[in-house]
Amino acid sequence: MKTKGSKLLARKNIALIAHDNMKEKLSLWATKHQNELSTHKLYATGTTGYKLEDATGLTIEKCVSGPMGGDQQIGAKISQGEVDVLIFFWDPFEPMPHDPDVKALLRIAAVWNIPVACNPASADFIIYSALISQDYERQVPDYDAYIAERTAR
Ligand code: PGA
Repeated sequence: MKTKGSKLLARKNIALIAHDNMKEKLSLWATKHQNELSTHKLYATGTTGYKLEDATGLTIEKCVSGPMGGDQQIGAKISQGEVDVLIFFWDPFEPMPHDPDVKALLRIAAVWNIPVACNPASADFIIYSALISQDYERQVPDYDAYIAERTAR
């Protein structure tokens, strides 16, 4: 597939999601990085969003709860270029009723070449990166070329 450059701006759109057993870890992480997070636009799935707002006082745009479609909403935002970074503490020990949605979200994040963190250490590496507060040119699928190729068949 052809790719093209697409800019992630210095002020990032960051999505925050945690499965139930991981919510405490994400709350602690978000509290630790509250100052940096406050300089970006934040999204979350429903329950995660309310819990993080309670823990940190940060303003977060909330989707519906993950099992009700929130993961898919975040995935759609990634496809539309509205989410630039995914912090998703998924639970490695419990099967989820919405496993297909979780897998789809991780796939879409890979397709659109956005940074993804699945635990506090990887999230630390992202938030401490100089790139979190700088413009960054990533490569994304060239959708126009893809459509042109398909319609020419
Ligand atoms: P929640 O959803 O934030 O509404 O708990 C997270 C998830 O299960 O994906």
